[in-house]
Amino acid sequence: MLDADFFRRWMTVTATSVEREAEHLTALDSPIGDADHGSNLLRGFTAVAATLDKEAPDTPGAVLTLAGRQLISTVGGASGPLYGTLLRRTGKALGDAGEVGEEQLAEALRAGVEAVMTLGGAAPGDKTMIDTLVPAVDALGTGFAAARTAAEQGALATTPLQARKGRASYLGERSIGHQDPGATSAALLIAALAEAAGE
Ligand code: ADP
Ligand code: MG
Repeated sequence: MLDADFFRRWMTVTATSVEREAEHLTALDSPIGDADHGSNLLRGFTAVAATLDKEAPDTPGAVLTLAGRQLISTVGGASGPLYGTLLRRTGKALGDAGEVGEEQLAEALRAGVEAVMTLGGAAPGDKTMIDTLVPAVDALGTGFAAARTAAEQGALATTPLQARKGRASYLGERSIGHQDPGATSAALLIAALAEAAGE
């Protein structure tokens, strides 16, 4: 079973990965965006880690809801409301249970990803974080390690795509040949889940 500590670990491992990869994420956001994805997420997840430390929410749902709220209030770019919605909706779906199973997490995360698709209007193949999150959630039934592999493959597979949502879509065909920054950060989020689980 996964308790609040597990979810706090998921968020702090994500914060550490974002810190390590911030420059890379911003570099990916240079040719097809406005070169702020790394700094956006660094600001957001640093705030998430600090808030979780201070408020110490004691259920899985409360951890993710608080993290999502914090992302929405600290990240100005498109990715803040989108990741914020992902975590808030996932947290809401987990309810107020003190511990949740892996299957419950997979279902809740699916609800979170669907909320992101509703908010941003992106579908798989549009060259966004959705290209990572959908295959990751599909693979989560098989385990955390499978979800991480699916996420990494999903992020890499955005390179040949033409962007149809977000800032990169303004470039039309010129968005082809670049890996999507949001799909790349989404793979960090899923890898952190596997790491938090000790895999
Ligand atoms: P901004 O584009 O406002 O500068 P960021 O650079 O932080 O915000 O985030 C860009 C990333 O957000 C993109 O690489 C993409 O993965 C994701 N994104 C943008 N728009 C959407 C959308 N409508 N749906 C899903 N993801 C999106
Ligand atoms: Mg940007």
